[in-house]
Amino acid sequence: MGLKDASEHELDELDIRDVLVHLFYETHYAGRINRVWKAFADYFAAQSGGSATVFLYNPSSACYGFHVSSNHDLARRLESVSFTKETLQNLLQGEAFARLKNGDGVVPDGVIGEAHAGYLWPLSGRGGSALGVFILIAPAERWSKKALDRVTRIIDECGKMLFQVEKLINAANAGKRYRHLFDVTRKVHSTMDEQEILDEVLRSLNTLYPDFQIRLLSMEDVLAASLESQAASEAFLSGKVRFERSETHARMYAPLSGRQGVYGVLEMTAPDTGPFPDDESEFIALLASTAGHAFENARLYQQSQQSISDLRLLNRTSQRLNANLRFEDTVDYLIGQMLKDFNADEAGFLLVKNDGEPEVYPKSTPYFHTEDGRTLVQSIAQQLKAKDEPVFLGDMQRETWGRNSAYRSFIAIPMHLDEALFGAAVALDKEAYHFSYDQFRLLQSIVQHSALALANARLREELEQKVITDYLTGLYTRSYFNRAVAASLSRDRCGVLLLIDIDDFKLINDTYGHSTGDRTLVAISDIIKRNIRKDDVACRWGGEELAVYMPSCELPSAKAVADRLVSAVKTLTSPSVTISCGLAGWRRDAPCGGLNDLFDRADKALYMAKKRGKNRVFLSE
Ligand code: GH3
Ligand code: MG
Ligand code: MG
Repeated sequence: MGLKDASEHELDELDIRDVLVHLFYETHYAGRINRVWKAFADYFAAQSGGSATVFLYNPSSACYGFHVSSNHDLARRLESVSFTKETLQNLLQGEAFARLKNGDGVVPDGVIGEAHAGYLWPLSGRGGSALGVFILIAPAERWSKKALDRVTRIIDECGKMLFQVEKLINAANAGKRYRHLFDVTRKVHSTMDEQEILDEVLRSLNTLYPDFQIRLLSMEDVLAASLESQAASEAFLSGKVRFERSETHARMYAPLSGRQGVYGVLEMTAPDTGPFPDDESEFIALLASTAGHAFENARLYQQSQQSISDLRLLNRTSQRLNANLRFEDTVDYLIGQMLKDFNADEAGFLLVKNDGEPEVYPKSTPYFHTEDGRTLVQSIAQQLKAKDEPVFLGDMQRETWGRNSAYRSFIAIPMHLDEALFGAAVALDKEAYHFSYDQFRLLQSIVQHSALALANARLREELEQKVITDYLTGLYTRSYFNRAVAASLSRDRCGVLLLIDIDDFKLINDTYGHSTGDRTLVAISDIIKRNIRKDDVACRWGGEELAVYMPSCELPSAKAVADRLVSAVKTLTSPSVTISCGLAGWRRDAPCGGLNDLFDRADKALYMAKKRGKNRVFLSE
């Protein structure tokens, strides 16, 4: 290196060419151009046997702030110093340089020692205004007036060049940053994942500003932080950049804003308490807004995906419900959907009976059949009675009635048939705020769709019941009876058919009239219903003839049933009537001519019962 030692060189012989050569060497022929200020300070420090430092003007804070120093110790002591243009003018008072004293606002006490002198020169760009300040602290005896004049001229010339260089460096840095922004923009717009976008923005900010503390605040974070920092909530609400400076920190809040709203706030805490440089804040704001737009796109995309999947679910449900499901199948399907598509821990259905009491649908999840579950169902039924509306709670433990529940998220959607409440679908989850409001709305429309299907299913089932039920006696019709006998013939090991005919019924009609005859017929049917097993099927065979089929039954026990019926009818009817019964049985291990054969044999047995004097049972061979 071509630096001459200060001792063999008089300061008044300093030559600008010498400085320039030094700068060339130190910046590796401008290859490391951003070292130029440091090289400049180092040169004068070496030449004067002291220390040198440079302050640069920051327009956003309208202050001169520390930039570089030739020596670490001095840097440490001056780092937090800043001063205004007025301070500079007062110090200079129109001169080309100022002699500094300790504690005059530019150098703190104790920086300039006994044996040293401090000097300050304004550094101007080509326009003439002071964009920086150069401070030299050097052994006092080395400075003659001539030397100072010469140094002043050199510094003035160098200043002009250095600010040109500074401009180039800034332009290059800005270029680099915007290339970075371009990369980030491309990346964040290539994903539809909200988290990936935030990660990418954080990653690039951390790369660009390694000394900053960087946080992304969600709306909840902003609310939480609003007690300490108004700037964060202001940035969020106004969608504009806000700054905050205190003794402990300097912060910038940049909103992540899209076209429709603000999605969060970027918090950048600077490593020192100095103000934020303008070009940095502009860049950070731009990056935050890029992220905001990308975030908005991702959110809109996800919302549209969600809508599509919701519509698919509704469509699927409609198709299933239109497929003529039975009542039970429809409710089962609904419970299945709450468990699968809404990921509920528990799903159930409560049916409101005619007396207004709720009944837990048997295939609700097990919780609904526990003591707690039943209590909950009671309370839901009461609430729906008071206010017949869907209920959606993020945390039911906040309600008096749900305080002791093991569950927190709660949805209950009432169902109506002809405007009357007939039941409610209930979904529960142990986690608070498990269901979103959108899910609640979706479930509501599914339940509404289902209500119609349930109404249809119920009507259809009622109609089916009517078709298989005799209007007068409430016994099954003959067609249903025939099917039941045929099913038993192919399924069971044995069975018995019992044919019943009322004795001298014509006489009853003739004596008491047809309506008494009808009432007698109903009374006998009721006696039959009460005296047969659950699996037995009783039907109105035709006119005043009735039949009972007893599956998996042997003749002796069927005979006992028939005898019981004969005596019960005689004693319980008024006017008293008697019946005659014909019995025919079949066994899998004996030859049987099928349905018609069984009927014929029972009919013959009945005929025999009549022939033998009525009011009796006759068994076919
Ligand atoms: P039997 O002891 O031989 O059976 O004498 P019966 O008078 O009962 O003779 P039968 O079984 O042939 O008579 C059928 C009568 O039952 C004819 C009809 O008046 C009466 N009957 C059939 N269906 C009904 C009904 O739905 N209501 C009433 N009140 N009477 C009916
Ligand atoms: Mg008859
Ligand atoms: Mg008769």
